[in-house]
Amino acid sequence: MSKEKKSKAKAMLPEASMAFLKNYINTPSPVGFESSGQKLWLNYIKNYTDTTFTDTYGTAVGVINPTELFKVVIEAHADEISWYVNYITDQGLIYLKRNGGVDHQIAPSMRVVIHGKKGPVKAVFGWPAIHTRISNGDQKENQPKVENLFLDCGARSKKEVEALGIHIGAVVTYSDGFDELANDYWIGRAFDNRIGGFMIAEVARLIKENKVKLPFALYIVNAVQEEIGLRGAEMIARRIKPDVAIITDVTHDTQTPMINKNIEGDV
Ligand SMILES: [Zn+2]
Repeated sequence: MSKEKKSKAKAMLPEASMAFLKNYINTPSPVGFESSGQKLWLNYIKNYTDTTFTDTYGTAVGVINPTELFKVVIEAHADEISWYVNYITDQGLIYLKRNGGVDHQIAPSMRVVIHGKKGPVKAVFGWPAIHTRISNGDQKENQPKVENLFLDCGARSKKEVEALGIHIGAVVTYSDGFDELANDYWIGRAFDNRIGGFMIAEVARLIKENKVKLPFALYIVNAVQEEIGLRGAEMIARRIKPDVAIITDVTHDTQTPMINKNIEGDV
């Protein structure tokens, strides 16, 4: 990798955009509880739009040319998959339910943040150590499932868990954040679809900075609750009633191993 090549992609993004992206990725925005991320996003986009608003459900919108009659929407979803606290055992372990299509296979040993009433609480997904698991001959190992995955936040009783502000229904997000790999590849939790939210915000910035005059109203929409059935988008579409809508989201790179291109195609 040449130095020249590495600096090229970064040079395209101003420092403020990069700082916003990192901050936005690192701010949890679980389904139904998107307000922290939405505040950050609105605060950024308000510099580049004529007006902003939010709806009752938490979807955030920035508008350029609000008086034009022809309405174009560019959209992303603000929410990320997460977990819910479902049951707290007498020993202080926490069992969960899914909030969106979160993957149980990757959960064991992941570090998480439980968003409790008294603020964030750190925890980890427990799993028996390899030394203690049965793996001989015909006896099969346990597979991670929603029913057997549990969190340990350090509390030793249900009372201690509750004293930390953790309640049934509290949301849980993974705690890994933004980082950079070689060749300008980025990794982070919830690129689905925080990267879309970042892209549409950057569209607003580029329109403003390049003094582009649009012959239509542009609604830049960051919708909530996509991961549980596109709910935020459905509700805001009925309010804006756009003539055209362009939706951003992520997809899977099928060049990576163990993906069947016969089914998933070439991406
Ligand atoms: Zn998505």
